[in-house]
Amino acid sequence: MSELNEAYAGSGKFQSRYDVVVIGSGLAGMTAANVLARGGRKVLLLERHYKLGGLATWFRRDGGRRIFDVSLHGFPVGMIKSCKRYWSKEIADRIVQLPRIKFDNPQFSLTTTFDREDFTRLLVEKFGVEEATVKAFFDEAREQTHYDDSSRTAKDLFEKYFPGRPDVWRLLMEPITYANGSTLEDPALTYGIVFSNFMSKGVFTFQGGTDLFIKMLRDELVKNGVDIALNAPAEKILVENGAVVGVKIADRPIHVESPEIGGAPKSKSPLLGATIGADAVLSNANLKGTIFNMVGREHFSPDFVAKAEDVRLNNSSVQVYIALKDGETIDEERCGDLLFTSVAPEFRADWLLSRHITSRTYSFYYPKTRPGTDKYYIVASSNANYEDWANLSEEAYEESKRDLIETTLDALDKYVPNVREKVAYVEAATPKTFKAYTDHWLGASFGTKYEGLAISRGLADQVAGLYHAGSVGIIMSGWLGAVNYGVIASNDVDSYLVQRAKRGEGSANV
Ligand SMILES: Cc1cc2nc3c(=O)[nH]c(=O)nc-3n(C[C@H](O)[C@H](O)[C@H](O)COP(=O)(O)OP(=O)(O)OC[C@H]3O[C@@H](n4cnc5c(N)ncnc54)[C@H](O)[C@@H]3O)c2cc1C
Repeated sequence: MSELNEAYAGSGKFQSRYDVVVIGSGLAGMTAANVLARGGRKVLLLERHYKLGGLATWFRRDGGRRIFDVSLHGFPVGMIKSCKRYWSKEIADRIVQLPRIKFDNPQFSLTTTFDREDFTRLLVEKFGVEEATVKAFFDEAREQTHYDDSSRTAKDLFEKYFPGRPDVWRLLMEPITYANGSTLEDPALTYGIVFSNFMSKGVFTFQGGTDLFIKMLRDELVKNGVDIALNAPAEKILVENGAVVGVKIADRPIHVESPEIGGAPKSKSPLLGATIGADAVLSNANLKGTIFNMVGREHFSPDFVAKAEDVRLNNSSVQVYIALKDGETIDEERCGDLLFTSVAPEFRADWLLSRHITSRTYSFYYPKTRPGTDKYYIVASSNANYEDWANLSEEAYEESKRDLIETTLDALDKYVPNVREKVAYVEAATPKTFKAYTDHWLGASFGTKYEGLAISRGLADQVAGLYHAGSVGIIMSGWLGAVNYGVIASNDVDSYLVQRAKRGEGSANV
């Protein structure tokens, strides 16, 4: 049970007041809590779930014998530096490159190390593009900054360098669309920043799995004195005279029915129903949920509310988790580590998001993922829209899940022959699952679209001491984006507390 972090839910050593309450233990929330605690701030980390990690999560099935990673498919090299700096060297040292990234679709099949050099080689040798054009494209993608013209789209960028080459667009765009649902119509600058981050030096993973990663983060948080409350959903962020004053915690935990814990969480947080005082609050929860549910629109200017309402959410995902029987293996040469497949004749973002799945990305987990183990797993992921799943009857929903599993096994047979005979356990997750576990509106896998960033950054101008960190826009999302945004937001919180202390307003210990 301690692996589920429940041991921390009932420590009972909580204060009635903190310098900062962090709501949500996604990677942004945990990182912000850690940085603030290391800087000497007294921090309470509230999590509604029975586990830390948010979408960076895992689950066990089959009496605990099988373990599945939900979002550990790949992240950029920058994660090594960020983990070393804001967590620990031991955590950073476990980050390793995924050597074999594969693509298989009607336009091309290839294997790449997913870095600039290898992409250049492929574009020149396999796609016949001039080397100078590839260089110019990479250079322009790399030069994009937040300050560039956001009306220029990714499509404009591709048209400029690769006109009439939908196969090249597919190679360059499909992984990014898979990763965060962004389309050719999204700003070129966000594409450029994400693309050059991801493709500069390959795709990386955490050796040991998400469970070990989150356990190592949790140990750091505890070491640095963060008070952690699991099963403790924040209900309201309390505001008085234009400034946050605390957080009200719900009377009861969220309802979770998980085979992992055999029903409801075992421990009840002693904080349920409590009101905790705070000089600052940093929400890692969904941006819109933070504004409209936890703070309340009455605390923001009408103009800000209108802009926040207009923020679009990113799409969600469906996943099929497959464990192979003991003794069954996967051909690493054939499948690689990450395999982007599609049966669509060409790249179209709407097809990637369609309920009628044409594109699947497979993550293959070999024993090397968790050294010392001997099991093989496959997680198939596709983009999905919440609406396609949310309004089904219970019967139709279960039927759709079964169909998702069956069609995924059909499609997988091409890469893992006779896969049905090899499967020990299979289960599916839908946008409703992601919503249930994180309370992200529409089950968004990557928070909000780009315009959410300005709203997230603008909160403190509306309500003093109110901050947000977490998936907004594709740059601040994903494992690396979330960690980095946690750092940025923690610095803002710290500056606010310093200013408060200078004005003699708070209990901030600087
Ligand atoms: C299927 C899938 C695959 C993915 N694959 C990848 C990948 O390969 N690479 C990659 O880099 N990224 C991937 N991601 C995205 C990545 O996992 C997320 O962007 C990142 O983990 C989000 O971190 P976050 O800090 O924004 O918070 P989240 O993970 O969204 O966590 C927010 C936390 O806040 C908690 N919370 C919400 N409301 C409350 C409340 N009222 N009180 C208390 N707690 C609350 C939630 O329970 C949750 O724990 C994937 C995501 C999904 C869904």
